Amino acid sequence: MFKLKKHTAVLAIAAVVLLPLLLWQTAVWTERVALRQVAEQAASTLALYATGLQEAVGKYEALPRLLARDPTLADLLRNPDDPARRDRVNRALEEVNAIAGTADTYLLDRDGLTLAASNWNGPTPFVGRSYSYRPYFQQAIRGRLGRYVALGTASGKRGYYFAYPVRDPGGEILGAITVKVLLGPLEAAWPGTPDRVIVTDSVGVILMSSRDDWRYRTLAPLSPAELSRIKTQRQYTGTSLAPLPIADRRAFGAKAERVELTEETAGGPAAGGEAFLLESFPLRGIGLTVWSLSPVSQVRGAVTQAMVLAAFGFLIVIGLTWIWLQRRLAIRERFETDERHKAELEGKVAARTRALQTVNADLRAEVAERQKTERELRETQAELVQAAKMAALGQLSAGIGHELNQPLGAIRSYADNAKVLLTRDRLPEVEANLTQISGITTRMAEIIRRLKTFARKPSHKAEAVCLREALDDALALMDSRIDGERIEIEVPAEDARVLADPVRLQQTLVNLIGNALDAMAETEAPCLRFVAETQGDQVALQVIDCGPGIAEAALDHVFDPFYTTKDPGQGLGLGLSISYNILRDLGGSLTARNRPEGGACFTLTLPRAVPAPAPAKAEEVAGLAPRPREAVR
Ligand code: ADP
Repeated sequence: MFKLKKHTAVLAIAAVVLLPLLLWQTAVWTERVALRQVAEQAASTLALYATGLQEAVGKYEALPRLLARDPTLADLLRNPDDPARRDRVNRALEEVNAIAGTADTYLLDRDGLTLAASNWNGPTPFVGRSYSYRPYFQQAIRGRLGRYVALGTASGKRGYYFAYPVRDPGGEILGAITVKVLLGPLEAAWPGTPDRVIVTDSVGVILMSSRDDWRYRTLAPLSPAELSRIKTQRQYTGTSLAPLPIADRRAFGAKAERVELTEETAGGPAAGGEAFLLESFPLRGIGLTVWSLSPVSQVRGAVTQAMVLAAFGFLIVIGLTWIWLQRRLAIRERFETDERHKAELEGKVAARTRALQTVNADLRAEVAERQKTERELRETQAELVQAAKMAALGQLSAGIGHELNQPLGAIRSYADNAKVLLTRDRLPEVEANLTQISGITTRMAEIIRRLKTFARKPSHKAEAVCLREALDDALALMDSRIDGERIEIEVPAEDARVLADPVRLQQTLVNLIGNALDAMAETEAPCLRFVAETQGDQVALQVIDCGPGIAEAALDHVFDPFYTTKDPGQGLGLGLSISYNILRDLGGSLTARNRPEGGACFTLTLPRAVPAPAPAKAEEVAGLAPRPREAVR
């Protein structure tokens, strides 16, 4: 805003300073160009006037020469006192004068005295008058063509004089014959034009003028010598010969001059006047000069028009400049705003980037912290799992002791029996007893193997595991507790295989079976059912009991760590929590619900393994063929 005001002020000052300067220059230049045109036009007009005057006056130049040839003139000059001769010459001159249309024609003797004249009969006859003081006479008497311009002393009329010597046949100059041509009628014939036309003599006295009051005035003050000569020659008797009131006169171009006349008042020149373009055309033959004075005022219209146009143009230029400056300012301001916004944006981006980097660093630190915590958690979890397992082992050991006691007792009785049979030499029966003992130890070895597998640390690597086999192993471990319970197993395919770590899967199953047995401790006819089905790429196994079901309040917490409804020493509350995490780690899930017909149902899912025949054979090799368990035990 401030800048805009500054621009406006600068432009306004420029306009105020430059406009008058421009207008003045335009005026000067236009006037000069227009005056040049005026001068050219005036020059051609002037040439017309000059030629006209030259012709009008010059055509009489030869007349005195012709008349001088007339012998009657010389005759009269030789006999000046003869009245008859005078009369004859007077009449002849009158006639010639009338025919030629000249003002006066007269004959002067050697002393300048008029012997005969065309106006001999007029009111102011020249006859008897002396014109010896006139230069035309003096020139003629010296044998040359006399030329002169003057006011007639007798007539008072402006005239141009031609004089020529009259000689006798011997060549002696006897006198001069003179012809006077009036200039007044020529002036009257000038056409009216805006330009003033004047005719001056050789010293600048105005003889002819389109303005009456300028006649017999001069273009420049005459010198005293000139004035005295004019007086002696009685050239312009009765006139003031005052110079025109020229205030200024200077050259305009090569041929013209510019003059300024002041207005005249009774008291002399006053301020204000008229300016003219002055051009001259000298008529060398007759010693006159024709001048044209073209009023400068006639170009005033053109000058005004040019000034108006210049002012308009200037104002338009100023206006356009103002608009341009305004636009430039707006563009610069926009650019600056953009730059500022850009800088602000860049600042914001930099700040945001810094903040993000800090957040990133914090996040990275947090992630590292989390990973560390997770690692520690896993380690703790693994330790807990192991601890839980060991706890389960502790619980199992009593049953297992019982489990191993029975075959041990059997072995002992078979061995005792064998000893008695050996003494009686009943060798085939001894062999049968030993075979029984061998079978029993195989079964014991199997029990111990399963315990060892259970106690092993998990591998964390998933592999294809036969679900049925894992179930059998888990049931075998729980054998001593299951004793006498109804166990139903439904598996969709003998070789339903899942992707799992066998140790952890076994631990999960042992936990679920153990929980079911715990729940059915008070149940009259306990029963346990396993239902497996393939669901797309997952295998689901339901562990169903017919116990009291999970208490409503416990349903949401059974998977929480350390949640237990069992008496202290009976449970840690970690079994389901660990099982849940194991299944999640293996890509499966564990859910619990109560069945409407009573009892709890725990469903575990695991990814299905692509069936492969190899593990089945491996089982056979190891002598681990699954045992049917659909019988009441
Ligand atoms: P613990 O067996 O040491 O109590 P678990 O995590 O294995 O820990 O089980 C948590 C709780 O879930 C048990 O205390 C019991 O209340 C409930 N529960 C688990 N299985 C069953 C089931 N089959 N029927 C009823 N309640 C069950």
